[in-house]
Amino acid sequence: MKNKNKKLTTASGRPYYENEDSLTAGPRGPVLLQDYYLHEKLAHFNRERIPERIVHAKGTGAYGKFTVTQDITKYTKAKLFSKVGNECRVFVRFSTVGGEKGSADSERDPRGFAVKFYTEDGNWDLVGNNTPVFFIKDPKKFPDFIHTQKRDPRTNLKNPTMMWDYWSLNPESLHQVMILFSDRGTPYSYRHMNGYGSHTFSLINAKNERIWVKFHFKTRQGIKNFTGPEADEMKAKDLDWAQRDLVQAIDNKDFPKWTLKIQVMTDDQAKVFKWNPFDITKVWPHAEYPLMEVGVMELNEIPANYFADVEQSAFAPAHVVNGIGFSYDKMLQGRLLAYPDAHRYRLGVNYEQLPVNRSPFGVHNYQRDGYMRGDGNGGDNPNYWPNRFDDIEADKSYKEPSFKMDSNMADSYDRNENDDDHYSQPGNLFRKVMTDRERQNTVNNFVSSMKGIEGPKRMEIIHSQLSHFYKVDKELASSIAKGLGIEFKP
Ligand code: NDP
Repeated sequence: MKNKNKKLTTASGRPYYENEDSLTAGPRGPVLLQDYYLHEKLAHFNRERIPERIVHAKGTGAYGKFTVTQDITKYTKAKLFSKVGNECRVFVRFSTVGGEKGSADSERDPRGFAVKFYTEDGNWDLVGNNTPVFFIKDPKKFPDFIHTQKRDPRTNLKNPTMMWDYWSLNPESLHQVMILFSDRGTPYSYRHMNGYGSHTFSLINAKNERIWVKFHFKTRQGIKNFTGPEADEMKAKDLDWAQRDLVQAIDNKDFPKWTLKIQVMTDDQAKVFKWNPFDITKVWPHAEYPLMEVGVMELNEIPANYFADVEQSAFAPAHVVNGIGFSYDKMLQGRLLAYPDAHRYRLGVNYEQLPVNRSPFGVHNYQRDGYMRGDGNGGDNPNYWPNRFDDIEADKSYKEPSFKMDSNMADSYDRNENDDDHYSQPGNLFRKVMTDRERQNTVNNFVSSMKGIEGPKRMEIIHSQLSHFYKVDKELASSIAKGLGIEFKP
């Protein structure tokens, strides 16, 4: 039964008598300028869309809870992890990366996996992907890279020539490209994939000791992927499959769960690790840095309103809490700026006051004013510090240990110097981790995409990319060349 005890009103609350027939001079019009309700209705409709995210535009989200299952207090003093059994509410947004808001969920693409933990010490955002690595390791490259994943400036079409031109000139992308073109590039649903914090972060314990950490969410639903042809079929059948799957599962009380695990590395280990442990194109091998269980996350509530909570959700790797810190990872450092900046542009400077983004445990500072300030703006409390009137204190016990630097020489260091092994980790993935079937599917996926390379530079791009593949694995390169019907001489 509909609740009929609410009166229709204008936005300013005036009860209004008519929602369909405009005010007109005579039954056939014209429409009168004084029908304010009509203007307001049309004008608000015109402004319904906010800028879509440049990346991760198509997404879905759910609330849930995180429960701590193992004691990691020797590594972190984060309040959330202070006791086994601690629980906190979470909001998770899954997404594809390159497509627009209306694009298909089953596209070959990394998937965003962003988790907001509403902890007593503030909101902690772990803003990762379903892959443990990334295409580039310096944030200065990000806009160029993303342009290649978006639409061609002339044809407005996705353009494999742009993609492979860029990737073949940036072999640091190989590891992520290998994962992207394996069947993990087309997950069956958001429930059936892992999530990774991807960057190296730090954990800080009660003695103020810092240890490096990587975060992994392992799906408890099991990994399940589409093959390339299956993903294409789903794109044609149901553009919104992953959204539908998540909503249906949660509505049916089949709540998806992930186990949160960590890998840790001491500073001494970091110094002798054979790769740069702060390079986001590399993983830490499990055999050397074993996964340790930390907790379990369950998603159990689809937000009542998609726009309010999913579209307006704003995650930022900069949002860490006491006991969790950053690292030297250059991509992480770049994201510390870029994410809050994107939210200020898209949602406004007060984006953290929106209910989905707001810390439920209180926010106290001297930031005031700005567009859409909706929280009372600090009322009549002082808007400066120090002052003699309020009781807000900067608590020095929250200070992090200082960050050691290897060098204080400012320069644009070549990101590949001493760190140009782009090949062994993707090689391990291809040879040691993938099954025969996965290897074959990966080759087929590469061939199908690289067939789209066109134009006068076609052979140059293909040969350059095949030379990189050759360094990953000889058989990989020769199988792709065979699939493309070309002769490849390394
Ligand atoms: P392990 O054999 O211990 O682990 C392999 C990992 O690869 C597992 O986490 C598995 O995830 C994951 N995996 C399986 N197939 C794929 C795929 N097609 N794309 C991406 N990941 C996949 O090996 P190592 O730790 O020694 O790493 C070997 C290679 O495995 C790495 O070079 C890297 O490419 C990949 N990998 C490593 C990770 C790490 O953190 N060490 C994380 C993810 C991938 P699951 O167990 O959930 O099936």
